[in-house]
This record gives sequence, C-alpha cells and structure tokens, in this order.
Amino acid sequence: MDATERTPEIPLFDLRLSEDDIEAVLAVLRSGWLTMGPLTAEFERTFAEHLGVKHAVAVSSCTAALHLAYLAAGVGPGDEVIVPALTFAATAAAVVYCGADPVFADIVGPHELALDPAAVERAITPRTKAVCVVHFAGYPAQVEALRALCDDRGLALIEDVAHAPHAHVGGRAVGSFGLAGAFSFFSNKVLACGEGGLLATDDDAVAALARSRRSHGMTSGTWSRHTGETTTYDAEGLGFNYRLDEPRAALLLSRFKRLDEETARRRALTRAYRAALADVDGLVVPYSDEDVERSSCYVMPVLVRDVERRDAIRLELRERHGVQTSIFYPAVHEFTAYRERYRAESLPHTEHAARAEITIPLHMAMDAAAQERVVAALEDTV
Ligand SMILES: *Cc1c(COP(=O)(O)O)cnc(C)c1O
Repeated sequence: MDATERTPEIPLFDLRLSEDDIEAVLAVLRSGWLTMGPLTAEFERTFAEHLGVKHAVAVSSCTAALHLAYLAAGVGPGDEVIVPALTFAATAAAVVYCGADPVFADIVGPHELALDPAAVERAITPRTKAVCVVHFAGYPAQVEALRALCDDRGLALIEDVAHAPHAHVGGRAVGSFGLAGAFSFFSNKVLACGEGGLLATDDDAVAALARSRRSHGMTSGTWSRHTGETTTYDAEGLGFNYRLDEPRAALLLSRFKRLDEETARRRALTRAYRAALADVDGLVVPYSDEDVERSSCYVMPVLVRDVERRDAIRLELRERHGVQTSIFYPAVHEFTAYRERYRAESLPHTEHAARAEITIPLHMAMDAAAQERVVAALEDTV
C-alpha cells in the first residue's frame, strides 16, 4: 500500500477555498501591510453585525479569546471556573492560564452533549467565579438557564462558541448571552482561516480590556502609529501577543460571504444523516430534528450502544470502508495534566459519551453519494 492508498476516501473534513478567497489573500500580500489593520477592523464590524453584538475583537485563536474572556470576568488565582469535560482542552487550559482551577461538571446526557445546568449548580462553591458553556457540535446549549443561574449567583457566564458561529436561541445568536463569547477560526472549524479567533461582547469594559491585552496592553497599535493617529503608547497592564493578521482577516471576510449558504448546506447534510441513521440499531443520534435548524452543525456526532466495540468500529470504518472518523472528545478530566490536579464531580454522562462517541464525516465537499456510503458503512459495522 502506498501513501495515497492509505488516504481515507471519505475524509472527516475537507476544506476547499474558492478562487475569490485566494485572490483576497493575494491582494493583502501585494499591499505590503500584513499585521492587524483595516481588514481586521472590517472583519470585526462584519462579525459583530452578524451576531448582533456591540463589540467583536479579533484575536489569534479561540484559546486566546477564552483567556481574555476569563481575565475580563476577573478570574485569578484561587478562583474556580466551572467547565464541561466533554470539550477541547483549551476551555479548561485557559482557566489555568489565569492561575485559577477548572472544575468539571457533567453534560445533560447522550441526547444533549452540553453542560447540565443542574450539574453546574451542584458544582458551585464560594470560590466559583465563572461558568463556561460549550455549544457542542454547534447546537445551542441551555444558555438561558445558565444565564439565569449565573445572574442569580453573581457569576460570569462565558460562552465557548468555537463550534457555533451561526447558531441561535429564539433568534438571538449564541455567543451573545454571556459576558463574552469566544469563537474559533481554526482550520477545521465552520469558518476557517488557519489560526484565528474572536471575542464577542456587549460590555464596553470587556471589549476595551480585550483590545488592549491582545496587543501587549498597549494604548495604541502599529496601524494607528503608521497612520499618524498616535505617536507613542503606554502599557496599561500585562498584555499578550494575541493579534490576528491581515491575510487571515481577508480570508475570513471572503469566506464569511458564504457562511449562510454553507450553514444551510451543513443543516441539509445533517437532516439527511438523521433520517438515514434513525433506524440503525446500535446507534444513538444526539439532539433532535428541530435542534438542527438553530445549529451551526459543525460536526455530526453519533454514539454507539456497544461501548466496548467503539474503537473496533472506528478501525473497521477506516480500513474496510475508507471512512475517516474522530472522537469528540476524550474527556478533559481524564487527561494526565488534569486528572490528579483538578476537582471533577461524578461525570457519568461525560464518561459514557467520551467512550461511545464517533464523529462521522461532514463537510462542504460531501455529496449524497459519499453520505450514503458513510451510512452503509455504519449499517454494516455497528
Ligand atoms: C477548537 C476549539 C477551541 C480552541 O480553538 P483555537 O482557535 O484552536 O484556539 C476551544 N474550544 C473548543 C470547544 C474547540 O473546539
């Protein structure tokens, strides 16, 4: 077998850029201004309008946005932040960056893979400063209940919206319910530019802090000095280099134009999967048909009933059917770096999902034939 034969025929994810996307980046390269500047500002205005929020602050990653969001919530040494364990490690890691402790709370169950507000409530202690909810796979979590709980207990709600740039609850965009929302533009996300992120907020002070701290706590940026708007700067606090750059902002602006259309396509693919997989014994398909219409449908998670066979099923899907899959997610509280140091309540639903979940291919380049092959492979294997 050579390398090409081993390449899965149906990849989990497949990013295709248009010629317009590539031209937009080339135009920036030709302009000679590469770091944060007018295109980054234009992308921020575009995305703020899309979400219906007052401020959007572009940064280098969602991890950076989470770090700044936690800092803006006042999270520091001695504090606790309640997070799910069925997430990417960054949700918890950014808490540790602040010198605070992540506390893991359970998800609702196999049909809803996001934080359970009741489990969050049980995890609150006098040290709790904030709660971070992840809108898993692009499906809105119970953000209104969590917002009410946080308001009631004097806690900040942060939203990890890495999966959900186009999801809503009652017509309101997720990422706009908490003190701040952290988006990702990493290369396999819904709106991808390679590496990038954004902090969304309606709070002027949070936005000002994020703008300052993403660029070394400086009172003015390189662009404003370049244009003569300012001549010098002060550093008003400990900052970081969390800037986005212009080629990526140009790519995001170009790709953003297709976000509506691509979300509609993701929802259509998800509906087709749901219809085809509903009767497959041995599989649980999380969420409901109604949920699909308000979701970004970032990925397609399924749970196998026979947890013991999950890894063998994945291997067979790949080896016999050429279908690439992934796991969303190995549970963070079970990772070496977290297991012994941080408190986790009993997390039976998280641990079950982490052992039962398989993420199947879902992307723009996928057609009905490819989808039918994935379904047939699952019917044959599960
Ligand atoms: C991808 C992801 C992140 C991190 O995003 P980056 O932009 O790569 O830093 C954080 N949280 C979740 C849930 C993610 O999926």
